[in-house]
Amino acid sequence: MSSPSTSKVDVLIVGAGPAGLVSAVALSRLHIPFRIVERRHKGELAGRADGIQPRTLEILSSLGLSAPFLAHGSQIHRMVTYMPLPTESGIALVGQSINIPIDEPRFPFETVLPIEKFEEILQEDLLENGHVIDRGTVPTDLKISESTDEEYPIEIEIRHTTSENSNTSNVTEVVRAKYVIGADGAHSWVRKEIGIEMIGEQTPHRWGVMDFTPDRGTTFPTTRAKNIIQAHEGPGGVLGWIPRPGGQARIYVAFGPPPPPPTPVEQETVNGTSTTGSDGDDIVGLDDTDARTMIEGAMSTGFGNFSVLVKDVTWASIYRVAQRVASKYSHQDRIFIVGDACHTHSPNSGQGANASIGDAYNLAWKLALALRHKSPQAQNILSTYESERRPLALDLIAYDKEMFKLFKPELSTPIEYQRLWERGMGFSSGVGITYGPSALCIAPKENATFRFTDLVGYRLPPAHVVRASDWQPVHIHDVVPFNGNFTLIVFLVENLKSGFDSIQNVWMKYGRWIDTVLVKKGEKEEFFFEDDAYLMEPAFDGNRLYLDTPSRPGSSIGEGIYETFGVDSKADAPVGVIVRPDGYIGAMIELDEGNTDLRDYFTGILG
Ligand SMILES: Cc1cc2nc3c(=O)[nH]c(=O)nc-3n(C[C@H](O)[C@H](O)[C@H](O)COP(=O)(O)OP(=O)(O)OC[C@H]3O[C@@H](n4cnc5c(N)ncnc54)[C@H](O)[C@@H]3O)c2cc1C
Repeated sequence: MSSPSTSKVDVLIVGAGPAGLVSAVALSRLHIPFRIVERRHKGELAGRADGIQPRTLEILSSLGLSAPFLAHGSQIHRMVTYMPLPTESGIALVGQSINIPIDEPRFPFETVLPIEKFEEILQEDLLENGHVIDRGTVPTDLKISESTDEEYPIEIEIRHTTSENSNTSNVTEVVRAKYVIGADGAHSWVRKEIGIEMIGEQTPHRWGVMDFTPDRGTTFPTTRAKNIIQAHEGPGGVLGWIPRPGGQARIYVAFGPPPPPPTPVEQETVNGTSTTGSDGDDIVGLDDTDARTMIEGAMSTGFGNFSVLVKDVTWASIYRVAQRVASKYSHQDRIFIVGDACHTHSPNSGQGANASIGDAYNLAWKLALALRHKSPQAQNILSTYESERRPLALDLIAYDKEMFKLFKPELSTPIEYQRLWERGMGFSSGVGITYGPSALCIAPKENATFRFTDLVGYRLPPAHVVRASDWQPVHIHDVVPFNGNFTLIVFLVENLKSGFDSIQNVWMKYGRWIDTVLVKKGEKEEFFFEDDAYLMEPAFDGNRLYLDTPSRPGSSIGEGIYETFGVDSKADAPVGVIVRPDGYIGAMIELDEGNTDLRDYFTGILG
């Protein structure tokens, strides 16, 4: 037999679910050579996510992809709760609220998009950028060199399978990689190869899920809202209703204890991947009539006085949930796991794919930095992937456990679900997720003059500014492109010249890694490019000067970013806000004369 061909690549991604695809798109934006292999052949489906949270849409927006997601998805703005009538003759609407009840997100709604469309959008983007997913391909052997000098220390054997019989092909290839991302789901082969354990447990409760279209004649009145319904009798406890695009709906049924006897369709589901307990993905087929019968049975009693006429069922499943987190997220900071490969929990709060995408986004730019910048400091940044993302997964499990309790009818009511949802909103929407102190997130000095000293570790809060060159109102997130660079937002003060020596020092040494934008408070009519501020950096152009001013008379758009950051435009020194490549605030620094904090921040990361 001839020896297998060998190739080299900077990053090998294993798995093309949400985590693998977003890893690939992010690396493609950063121009990092990568390869992505996926066991599934074209047309085969894996995950079941359909809810995209506000922060995920912000991430997709930074990758230039929010438009197709918004165009193909439907939006959830309204949440409705139902309780049994006292007479037990049915259910009644008891509460209504805004589904994302915080002002802060740029996209203040959940977006619902079937996973196949989600994957299609990302795959098309990859294709347009010259990347093809290597389908029908699995890794079969992995070795990592102990030597730190090797440029490509990881050797992975991969096997290309045929769709007819995925186990028989012997076409193998050896890929040598600098880094590997294991995005291969809950039963991750990569995770097992590097000996990382999952810690947690399998929950005993069973859940039903079904995608269908409510037929004409349905009397349940709030089909286009998200509904939480406490059933008054029958096998199902609490029912969750998610409106889907094209008039479809997804129903979740909590089958409270004691569990019904096992049926042939019983599955273990870990986030998006249904399995038969084996190591492989095994999506429940459309002929899953037993699951459908159980779910429809629960619906017919659960909806009581209202009817829901079910047609066009595209998926039905009964599943159990594992709540587990990986003990580690990486091996030697060379092989990383992301997504379901490192955390599994229930789909109750619609977090699995969102957390997976967050992992991928957090890791991609750090890999790019480590690949481009050879300093030990840049290599050390890789360890912050685990220190930032693993605590979040633990919080997610804790939140899931709280949520889980509320789906047991004997313990609570839908109103409590609504309260928990609202209480955890920053977390579940993703916009309130924070990262702790590290070289990447450094708390401001105690004597800072700006008021909001706790913004470090949060993602850049939304705000509009007015571009000085053409007076166009621009969202501050769009001023921070996902290009692997840090953005330094300088809030100017009245004395335009103050503090610029400290910035110029940093530009000289680290300028290549920093995009600078200036913000000034004041009328657009009074600001001219000839101002000193514009001349501070030779390469500065008018497109990087922004004003905190109403975009037009009477409008609040364009005004308020100084207020959002608590910066006083009359202070003695400007304030520099360092935004990491993933949109998180890394530091807020008062740029007073001789200040070295800005330089120290970049020295800590780039050496
Ligand atoms: C009913 C249900 C509803 C859900 N709803 C939501 C929701 O609304 N919002 C949400 O955020 N999440 C939801 N989830 C969770 C979500 O589906 C998962 O968290 C998400 O799919 C995880 O993405 P991933 O890329 O990490 O893993 P996966 O989606 O499992 O993708 C892993 C990929 O790796 C491939 N693979 C596996 N092994 C190998 C191998 N050895 N070699 C090559 N490729 C391999 C698989 O084929 C697959 O394509 C839901 C889950 C369920 C069950």
